[in-house]
Amino acid sequence: MSAYNQIVIHAPCPHCGEISDIRCQTHVASSFDGVDERFCHHTYHIGETMPWFDAQHPECKNWKQGNSKTPLPLGEETECCYAECLSCQKECCAIIHFSQRTITGFELPGKVENWPAGFYK
Ligand SMILES: [Zn+2]
Repeated sequence: MSAYNQIVIHAPCPHCGEISDIRCQTHVASSFDGVDERFCHHTYHIGETMPWFDAQHPECKNWKQGNSKTPLPLGEETECCYAECLSCQKECCAIIHFSQRTITGFELPGKVENWPAGFYK
């Protein structure tokens, strides 16, 4: 199992249709190692910057752990995340965008069976 963090977005659920808190599992900037504490199992929101190793640390460059099939510009990352609607508890997926470990935005959640073709599962 790989390390992950959680990002909570406020968006319409593809199952129940409610504007809900949707909890997404991201592998970006996630590690079982850490500096003061592990870089995993924390919860973040849009606009927050995820903590990570200092620039001189050998692991620093490894924050990009998204699953886009398309190479992205330096400093940019994107991930299609498994997610859960906190209203109906059903599983869905949502694309999250990152810039230098800041969570910059998301695309509307979809059903897992409609996993976007541009992302590895
Ligand atoms: Zn729902």
